[in-house]
Amino acid sequence: MSFNSLGLSEPLLRAISKKGHTKPSTIQKKAIPFILERRDVLASAQTGTGKTAGFTLPMLQILSEGEILRKRPVRALVLTPTRELAAQVLEDVRSYSTYLDIRSNVIFGGVSAAPQIKSLRKGVDVLVATPGRLLDLHQQKALSLANIEILILDEADRMLDMGFLRDIKKILALMPEKRQNLLFSATFSKDIKKLANTFFTQPVLVEA
Ligand code: AMP
Repeated sequence: MSFNSLGLSEPLLRAISKKGHTKPSTIQKKAIPFILERRDVLASAQTGTGKTAGFTLPMLQILSEGEILRKRPVRALVLTPTRELAAQVLEDVRSYSTYLDIRSNVIFGGVSAAPQIKSLRKGVDVLVATPGRLLDLHQQKALSLANIEILILDEADRMLDMGFLRDIKKILALMPEKRQNLLFSATFSKDIKKLANTFFTQPVLVEA
């Protein structure tokens, strides 16, 4: 199977081949078609399976097909447990969006908030964030989550292990109810299932 047959657009296919990927990985083959159908997806996938491209590619395609809003409010939010993962996800988002008119950025704790606030003011379509800093900057009115179309929880099990459940619930309450939800996790504990049950609509389950 090729990336071509997954229904991805030409600018994405060009970025994929520039990266040197020739064939989609298992999780990509399984998850991308459902995400493009705008389904909610629960995916069990470890690091190294190509999970980041598995959600980034269809997310970029959906955003590029939709309306570009003048002020560029955040339309897709990727939540990650750590700043290292956030930075890595942003790198992938940027490389796969090379040939698209999509702006992306990252915010995480442990560093000064001022440059992050400044960059948010310019507008971003895709925001990668750790939960604490996101809430902090939302409280400071540095960003709005009112235009979110797609929410992605990356490494959800680690986020729960790190005690982010309360923050995640607060973040969910700040977004429109009508949106697409994607959750990627290495394991599916009771807590993950419970969380997914609270806000997913008829999710599809996929495994790497
Ligand atoms: P991840 O599981 O998202 O952390 O990705 C692990 C590594 O696999 C990254 O270096 C990706 O660039 C790479 N990768 C992602 N998709 C593919 C693919 N279809 N073929 C080869 N490598 C890939």
